[in-house]
Parts: sequence; structure tokens; C-alpha cells
Amino acid sequence: MAKEQASIITIFGGSGDLARRKLYPALYQLFRRGVLRDHFAVIGTARRPWSDEYYRDIIRESLQDEPNTDDETVSAFAGHFYYQSHDVTDADHYITLKNLSQKLDDQYGAQGNRLFYMAMAPRFFGTIASHIRSENLLSKKGYNRLVIEKPFGRDFKTAQDLNESISAAFNEDQVYRIDHYLGKEMVQGLLALRFTNPLLTPIWNKDYISDIQITLAEKVGVEERAGYYETAGALRDMVQNHIMQLIAYVAMEQPASFTPEEVHASKNKLFSHLPVLTEEEAQKNWIRGQYLASSTQKGYRQEDNVDPKSDTETYVAGRVDLDDPRWVGVPFFIRTGKRLAKKATEIAINFKPLAHNIFDAVGSKDARVNRLTVYVEPEQGYTLTLNGKTIGADYDLRQNPLSFRYSQDVINAAPEAYERLIRDALRGDQTNFTRWPEQEATWQYIDVVRKAWDDGADLAMYNSGSHGPAAADKLLERDGYSWAETFTNEN
Ligand code: NAD
Repeated sequence: MAKEQASIITIFGGSGDLARRKLYPALYQLFRRGVLRDHFAVIGTARRPWSDEYYRDIIRESLQDEPNTDDETVSAFAGHFYYQSHDVTDADHYITLKNLSQKLDDQYGAQGNRLFYMAMAPRFFGTIASHIRSENLLSKKGYNRLVIEKPFGRDFKTAQDLNESISAAFNEDQVYRIDHYLGKEMVQGLLALRFTNPLLTPIWNKDYISDIQITLAEKVGVEERAGYYETAGALRDMVQNHIMQLIAYVAMEQPASFTPEEVHASKNKLFSHLPVLTEEEAQKNWIRGQYLASSTQKGYRQEDNVDPKSDTETYVAGRVDLDDPRWVGVPFFIRTGKRLAKKATEIAINFKPLAHNIFDAVGSKDARVNRLTVYVEPEQGYTLTLNGKTIGADYDLRQNPLSFRYSQDVINAAPEAYERLIRDALRGDQTNFTRWPEQEATWQYIDVVRKAWDDGADLAMYNSGSHGPAAADKLLERDGYSWAETFTNEN
């Protein structure tokens, strides 16, 4: 059985979408696995005046589609939940919260541990953090940890302001900034793949790798999140955080050991090699797009709560060049978009071609480059392509894939990203959270791209259900590369 964690967990925004769809199911699975058992309570706060009983019904409702539920376990779990109506700007409400936390700590034996989870709009984070401090909600006996959702700011300046307001109450080692991609199995598995295979480790550099491609493709459009998306766009929503974190995991040096400090030291070093672009470079290497309608689906500009003239990007492709000696001359191509032909998160590592192929002389087909593709989702696993001979008398070459996929049963039984990350926060493991220097470097990079676009850049329109705009293909073709066959490959 898992080691039990004791804590009073306060969720700011307990009636919200994130809490219902992600946090309560994740906490339930932690309860089922015994990570949360007897010595915990959850306080949900929001503006509405709910009773504990009503709140517990909401908790039960949020678990309706969860696997491995039964009435008895769900009731036992919901019994640990308490509701406190709360206005984030009212100091008295924090005193009520503090008293309730202490009462529940005494009742459940939570050892003075406090986990504060901000599941609210980011504009409230600073206010909540400063009230937590001024109204003395921080426990003196156990730990105090703060979990923060993305977006962490909307540019470097707002991220810096947010960070300052948070650090007035919490030290960096108490802050857990969520990037849920870091909670995904295959993203965590990337480090194992890179750092445990003597076959791969020595060749993971510019001498053997030609280019690296990261694709985060979504099939869905903006759905109900248009209000937020209109002001964010794909660059802020996907690139500054998820894609930059994936670049770090793919490219960073091997950490001295697998500890949060060493992993973050490696990431910081990598991000110190993410140069701040000139606007000209950003114009040249980054393109943006927006989806058009299809026969069955609305275009972005026809979506509810979207300006009919909106130039918010729903697609981004770009070329990132690191000035790290290990990666000089190796482009990292990234692309992400909504309403594409399929949902896929993949990382393709293209190795360099042979300098000389002895089979050319006998007229056989060219040896193709080797490629390692890491499938993050929905499929999870990897494929390495090797050249081999075709069966037959002639000496033709063919590309043979060596493929491994985790089975759907294994995937279904594995903890979901939020479950992993909340467990890490309860255990005090910051490995899979982002730290301030990473935010700093990535926002400074992204701000230039944003500025270059705001100063005038084409918005490449693409059809819903397509592979994205032609401009993304041209971006690679210009430099002699091409995208991996994400949208045509059945692998
Ligand atoms: P939401 O609008 O559904 O919920 C917001 C919550 O805040 C509600 O419980 C509401 O009652 C509460 N609230 C608002 N104003 C308040 C006030 N003045 N005082 C007290 N409570 C107040 O938002 P959400 O979608 O759950 O998002 C929450 C956070 O999570 C945001 O930072 C969002 O960016 C982030 N996030 C959400 C998702 C998602 O899928 N929903 C995904 C990633 C990140």
C-alpha cells in the first residue's frame, strides 16, 4: 500500500471546472490507492454559499465517470470534504479558513501540513497569497505548499509581477507550478529513455542528430474556453509552457542525479541557452495560423465568444535554435494547433544521414535516416526505424520499424497526470513542476515572437480537419527539412 500523506488541502475555486473535472477525480484515485487515507481533509472555497452536504454531492457527481468507484469508497472519500464560502478579497474570510483548517487538523491528525491549491483565475493568485500570509494561514508545525495553475502570467512582465506577489508569502521551494504535461507518463519516461540506454546517450547531440520535431496536435476546437482562448492564443497556451518544457526534457544535459535540484539545474542550464530572438528572427522562424470552417464544424471566428475579426492564433509552428554547444546547428521544430486531422503528441528525433552508403554502388534504394519517435499520447510508446534489406535476390533497402507500445490496459490503470502531480506535491517532490527561472527564460523568448506578430505577420488560415497551414510545411522546406508523417502514419 502507498505511503499515506497527511494534509489539509485547501482548494481556492472549489466549484470551478478544473476542480470538478481534474482535481476531485485525482484526489479520489489517491484515496483509493491509499496515498490519502485517514489523515487528510479538503476545504473547498468559492463564492457560492454551499453547505458541506451540497459540496459532497458535487464531489460525488464529479466522480460519476471515474473508473474504480463504488458507493462505499466514494462516500468515505466525500466525508473528508468541507466547504467554506469565501470572497478572496475579504480578510475575515481567511481567518474563518484558518480556524477551520486548525479544527480539521486536530480532527484528522494532519500534522500541521497545509497544501493550498489555486484553481482560480490567475488575477486572484497574488491577493490570495498575500492574505494567506497576512492572516497567518501558514502552519508553523508542518509544511506549507502552494500549487498554482497555468497560465503563469501572459508575458514576462505579468509573470514577474505574479512571481513577486507569490514570493512575498512563499519561498520558491514551497511553490509548485503545474504544467500537466510534466505529469504525463511518456514525458516522465523520456528521461528514462534518454539516460538509461547506452545505445542512445552517446549519440544524443549535434554530431548524430539532424533535427528534432515536437508536435502537439489537437482535434478539438476551442470548445467552451473561447473567452480565455481569445486573449491567450496557442503561443501562450501551449508553446510557452508545454512545448518549452518538452524541449527541456529532450535537450537538457543528464542531471547529476535524479533529484528535483539536479533536474532543475539541468533545465536551467538548457534554458540559459535559449537565446532571446530579434524580432526579425522571430518573423522569419515563427508562423501562426487559424482554423476555418469545415462542412460540419465552425471556423474559429464563428465560435461563440470569439470576435468575428479575431486574429488569435489557433496554430503555431516555429524553429527554435539553442546556442548550447551540444545542439549548435540542430533545429527544434515545433508545431501545435487545434482542429487538426488527429490528436497526437509526438516527439521525433531525426538522426543524420550516412556519409557514405556502400549499397549505392549496386543501385539499391537509398538508406533512409534513422528516426526515433516518442509517442506521448494518445498512443504511448516509441518506434525506432532501422534500414534493412528487402527479402529477395536484389539488394534493395527498406525501412523497418522497431515499435513498442504500452497496452491500453496498462495505460488505463496508470495514474492520470493530475494524480501524479498532486501526489508529488503532497510528498514534497518538485521534480515535475516548473520553477521561476524556467518561466523567466521562456517568457522572454515568447514575448519577442508575440511582438513580431503584433507588429504585423500573416495569419495562415487552414481548414478544420487538415494538417495545418501550408506555411508550416514551407518553414521546414526552406531549410531542407520536412515534418514527420504524424498525420499520415498509422504508427
Ligand atoms: P472556473 O471559472 O470554472 O472556476 C473559477 C472558480 O473561482 C470558481 O470556483 C469560482 O466560484 C471561483 N471564484 C471566482 N471569483 C471568485 C472570488 N472573487 N472569490 C472567491 N472565489 C471566486 O475556472 P477553471 O476553468 O476551473 O480554472 C481555474 C484555474 O485553472 C485557472 O487558473 C485556469 O487557467 C486553470 N486551468 C484550467 C483548466 C481547465 O481545464 N479548466 C486547464 C488548465 C488550467
